[in-house]
Amino acid sequence: MENKRVAVIGGGLGALSGAIRLARMGFSVHLFEKNSKIGGKVNEVVLGAYRFDTGASLLTMPSVIDELFSFANANRSDYLDFVPVDPICRYFFADDSTIDTSADKAKMKAAISRLSPTDGEAYECFLNYAERIHSLTAEIFMFTPIHEFQKLMKLRHMQTLFRLHQIDPFRTVHQSVSRFFSDPRLIQLFDRYATYNGSDPFQAPATLNIIPYVEYGLGGYYIKGGIYRLVDALETLAHEQGVHIHTSVKVEKICQDGKRVSGVRANGQKIPADYVLCGADVVIAHNELIDGHPNQRKRLNQLEPSLSGMVFLWGIRGKYPQLAHHNIIFSSDYGAEFRQIFKHLQVPAEPTIYIAITSKVDSAHAPACGENWFVLLNMPYLTQEQMWDKEVVRVRNFVLKKLKQLNLDIENRIEMEQIYTPQDFAELYASNQGSIYGISSNSKTTAFKRPPNRSRILDGLYFAGGSVHPGGGIPLVMLSGKMAATLISADNGLKIDNIVGPQVQV
Ligand SMILES: Cc1cc2nc3c(=O)[nH]c(=O)nc-3n(C[C@H](O)[C@H](O)[C@H](O)COP(=O)(O)OP(=O)(O)OC[C@H]3O[C@@H](n4cnc5c(N)ncnc54)[C@H](O)[C@@H]3O)c2cc1C
Repeated sequence: MENKRVAVIGGGLGALSGAIRLARMGFSVHLFEKNSKIGGKVNEVVLGAYRFDTGASLLTMPSVIDELFSFANANRSDYLDFVPVDPICRYFFADDSTIDTSADKAKMKAAISRLSPTDGEAYECFLNYAERIHSLTAEIFMFTPIHEFQKLMKLRHMQTLFRLHQIDPFRTVHQSVSRFFSDPRLIQLFDRYATYNGSDPFQAPATLNIIPYVEYGLGGYYIKGGIYRLVDALETLAHEQGVHIHTSVKVEKICQDGKRVSGVRANGQKIPADYVLCGADVVIAHNELIDGHPNQRKRLNQLEPSLSGMVFLWGIRGKYPQLAHHNIIFSSDYGAEFRQIFKHLQVPAEPTIYIAITSKVDSAHAPACGENWFVLLNMPYLTQEQMWDKEVVRVRNFVLKKLKQLNLDIENRIEMEQIYTPQDFAELYASNQGSIYGISSNSKTTAFKRPPNRSRILDGLYFAGGSVHPGGGIPLVMLSGKMAATLISADNGLKIDNIVGPQVQV
């Protein structure tokens, strides 16, 4: 293969996973990350004696990570420990009731029946329905670059396409969840899964009900030492495979030679490459890194970004046994919350509050008499009208007041604090309008509209990460890296069957 060169833009998990695979396949790989460390939205911060994951906090589909390690002829368990989370999450409803959720089916059914006696059976039916969507869609939507139609049209894919009506694409998440459960609290709980890829449960197609199956059927995990340990492990693996990682280097342009990429420009210098794997947000890449092609730029800018968020990192004195590792304190009107976020693009008056506390399981993450709270609230993507300085003050007061009502009076116990707004996400990770999951899935056709892993305007240009197929979240962006690497190697004439595992089909 003569060591064909690949320039990789960004050290997010999508690009990093792709880089590891390409190096394994014999490409000469250079990865450029504008920040001082890699990982992108999977990030960590230490404030005094408190340590925080500042992005992802729950891991699903860990088999995707295992498969990457085995592709690189390594054993994941030599690098990382996955810890099943049970309860997966403690939910607090507006009427003061609570529920602990679990991937243990019997436990979960019992917890649901305690909350709403008639809904225990409904849970089993719902889980079967979600599993059916998973079995029909996983291969075609998660493990296949669906935009590669010629390669896609294998008989078994055609069969899936003919059965598409069975994946419930015509109802919304909320409409379908409401058909199963009678208790509005459970409807709110299962509606929430649309937010896992940054979407609105009142608009997103019910196909997204695959997500509760991924969590309850396949399990929710923590990584010992913090989710950022995944980045450390992948960085080690990348070095072992020969990936050259350059941090604090911003790619300024993707260089073009006619219809083909010829490298990237950084620090004013051209770095020649045969292929470019772009892990930066696809919309930002077309706005800032790729000259020309105005129609493509316009089209991409019309896609609706996903949810953004506001994050408070709080190092807090005291122990709070009322809270579990993962907690959700629901708003009293979920419909209003999402109308404000997606229709009016405003900060919701009463946001749902998510709190993750890794010191519950990793005592080194906080002093002996303290806890490290990662508090995340759903927010709209950035517009000109929002005034984040004011909103931060209002939302902070709202959260503290709401916590006080739950007998969590922490206002005078916060020893360390750091705050992130959608503006910070846009600046830190160059994410389009501060979105944290790329493109929203608020329409029936999103799975097909999501930008592909291979550029249609420039030969040799490929994309990975949350803004392209198959979407946001740790496992999916890692699969996007797999698809991009596989497409590059196919373009380079490598025999795919010899180099990919069973899950990615091209
Ligand atoms: C608050 C929050 C909570 C989340 N919770 C979860 C969760 O619990 N579970 C889960 O699975 N997922 C979660 N996610 C989503 C998940 O973290 C992301 O989908 C995933 O990490 C994104 O990976 P990516 O490959 O798209 O790259 P990104 O993380 O977007 O990284 C892109 C990288 O490219 C770099 N870059 C951009 N432009 C350039 C350039 N021109 N030159 C050089 N470098 C550049 C950026 O600096 C960045 O490091 C969460 C995200 C956030 C922010």
